[in-house]
Amino acid sequence: MLIDFHTHAFPPALAGRALAKLSYDCGGLAPQTDGTVASLKAQMALDGVDLSVVNAIATNPRQQRKVNDYAIEMNADPQIRAFGSVHPDAPDALEELERIAHAGLKGVKLHPEYQGFYPDDPKMIPIYRKISRLGLIVTFHAGQDYGYPPPYRATPDRLKRMLKWLDSPVVAAHWGGLGLWQEVLDTLCGAPLWFDLSFGYGSMPRSVAQQILEKHGPEKLLFASDMPWHRPAWELRLLDTLDLAPADREKILWANAKALLGM
Ligand SMILES: [Zn+2]
Repeated sequence: MLIDFHTHAFPPALAGRALAKLSYDCGGLAPQTDGTVASLKAQMALDGVDLSVVNAIATNPRQQRKVNDYAIEMNADPQIRAFGSVHPDAPDALEELERIAHAGLKGVKLHPEYQGFYPDDPKMIPIYRKISRLGLIVTFHAGQDYGYPPPYRATPDRLKRMLKWLDSPVVAAHWGGLGLWQEVLDTLCGAPLWFDLSFGYGSMPRSVAQQILEKHGPEKLLFASDMPWHRPAWELRLLDTLDLAPADREKILWANAKALLGM
């Protein structure tokens, strides 16, 4: 079994434009799907993925309801677990979190770059409290985002400081902080949160991946790709280079995710 904990898909009418803009901002990064769920599922079949978590991101306060409507629609597919999203500046963010939970979504994605906030800003406390009360998983973008110049908002340091406000499962994407590897190793490894392993292939030396694996532990790592930007098969190549016991590999590939998603 293989669970991909970090993917993206867009409503068919918006997918083309959304991918073109994101790709342009990332210097022409080549998408591996056409942005739709149908295309994501075709790639999942090719790479042997049984289930994907699809992350929605509300990039402005007015858009969050539509974004979550589509997440709820996608979540009806047995091969998809969609996470919703709220925008920190939306006046109805707390009510929207309730709607997300009551619709049966298991989690939300927050993106400090796209949504313009720092994870450890006290203005986020009401949102974190509500997420905790509802028992939602919360995935944060972490580290560099190739669509944005530095300095970055979702640093391991700030993510660690934020943890005291969350009493819910927290996932830091991209091995805890894309590109900020020394800070991940020094401050975030061993903290009570999960790392998803998306976008690691080609972005980090094998030795760093091995160190994070050893220091953070296989119980707190979740296989992930970041489709359409990276393919699951590429991330498996990185994992194949690591010294990893078969039982620990199973935890990373699906068992940790299955437990987290309550399956
Ligand atoms: Zn992503």
